[in-house]
Amino acid sequence: MKIPFNSEQILINGKWQNAENNKTLDVINPSNGELLCKIGRGSFNDIDCAVVAAQDALNGVWGNYSAMERGRVITKIGEKILEYIDVLTELESLDVGKPTKQARADAIAMARYMEFYGGSADKVHGHTIPYMDGYTVFTLREPHGVTGHIIPWNYPMQITGRCVGGALAMGNTCVLKPAEDACLTALMFARIAEEAGLPKGVLNVVTGLGIEAGAALSSHPGIHHISFTGSVGIGKLIQKAAGNNIVPVTLELGGKSPQIIFDDADLDAALPFLVNGGIQNAGQTCSAGTRILIQRGVYEKVIKMMCSKISLLKVGSAIDDLDLGPLISPKQKIVVERYIAHGVESGLKIAAQGLISDDCPSAGCYVVPTLFRDVPPDHKLAQEEIFGPIQVAIPFDTEEEAVNLANGTEFGLVTGVWTRDGSRQLRIAKAIKAGQIFINNYGAGGGVELPFGGVGKSGFGREKGFEALYGFSVLKTIAAYHG
Ligand code: NAP
Ligand code: MG
Repeated sequence: MKIPFNSEQILINGKWQNAENNKTLDVINPSNGELLCKIGRGSFNDIDCAVVAAQDALNGVWGNYSAMERGRVITKIGEKILEYIDVLTELESLDVGKPTKQARADAIAMARYMEFYGGSADKVHGHTIPYMDGYTVFTLREPHGVTGHIIPWNYPMQITGRCVGGALAMGNTCVLKPAEDACLTALMFARIAEEAGLPKGVLNVVTGLGIEAGAALSSHPGIHHISFTGSVGIGKLIQKAAGNNIVPVTLELGGKSPQIIFDDADLDAALPFLVNGGIQNAGQTCSAGTRILIQRGVYEKVIKMMCSKISLLKVGSAIDDLDLGPLISPKQKIVVERYIAHGVESGLKIAAQGLISDDCPSAGCYVVPTLFRDVPPDHKLAQEEIFGPIQVAIPFDTEEEAVNLANGTEFGLVTGVWTRDGSRQLRIAKAIKAGQIFINNYGAGGGVELPFGGVGKSGFGREKGFEALYGFSVLKTIAAYHG
């Protein structure tokens, strides 16, 4: 595929232009290790111009749009995304190695975010507050102003959709810094938004390095809110930068999410979720359900069922559209392979592995899906986020033990509970420390309507759903005395 636009250009104030000093970065296709194209390497000055443009748009045309007008243009972006779905799908597959079906699902989700947030722009209301005699008091929800969005490489379209969609709906303007390994669909999204009629300067996209463009964006004094999705380590830097400017920040960080299976669970219904919840997107999902906690009575049965499914999983080139594509980069492949090697060296037992397709290019970043069994709960593989297709199975006896195990990491993003006992479902849902609980299903990565975010090292703030709109706005209280 020829990239259908000049990928070296960044977008500032409605103008597609080269990054300062024409600097670029190579874009590598992780399915075959080949050079795909180049992107602009945005600088501190590029970010500065983008922030100024976003502020100008806020002071100008966008600030004068009614909520209804904002909603209409966001909705239109969603419709146009669907017109360009084939292009977006192919770009994403080439750029990040997503099997075609998964890339397509992400494009559909991005369109759905625009539909959802376009529809909600004029439905966020303030309140009236009963107060003292002679007063009328009410609240307004107003935009923060210029919002910064720093996006990771694992779900570029979905995360761009949820962040930018929510921010625009509330009347903010945006400066978007995609991950250096995943810029192409963000650039295409901005072109689609332009075509849909989003005024210039409302969305600015500066590609580049995290330590350059990313750091410049998060520390810029002209930014009024930052949404960051990525690792715990970089999340800490973002929070410090936001702290220096006293601006609010939403941190969507990693996870080590458990799926708990009780003896009475419908195992056939659970099986696809137990496996796919962990290996979807080659395990590069913040909410991947990779800790499989199994009650002793069905432990061997569940392991056997999972093994028979995992051993049939095929890994291959994104365009071959198998169960798993490559990981994002050679660096990520090394990280994940080290975890597998560490598991084996420390005496863990591999219960099952999938297969890498014979015709995979040798320079591709392929890692085989792997299930380790009988893993001690405090083992590195049971505690750390791997961000690859690696799952661990851990047995338990009692409900209390299951809850302690589920809560036994520094993360708290998502938990899946599999049981037919209705009282237990709710007891567990209340006892678990996590942002989302799924009962008899598991939604890694899904759910445009569902508020999403973590506790503990998984971060704070909520994105997705209607709830996100509160985070993308500021509440103002107006107390009028009229006697
Ligand atoms: P990352 O290294 O934290 O990068 C995330 C973003 O931050 C990228 O755009 C990156 O740019 C940028 N960045 C890097 N250094 C920066 C700095 N000093 N200042 C400002 N920005 C900087 O994470 P990743 O490797 O892309 O993604 C994997 C991690 O993200 C995993 O830990 C995963 O759990 C987490 N994640 C969480 C969620 C969630 O919703 N909770 C979703 C997806 C991923 P460059 O790429 O150009 O370095
Ligand atoms: Mg790439």
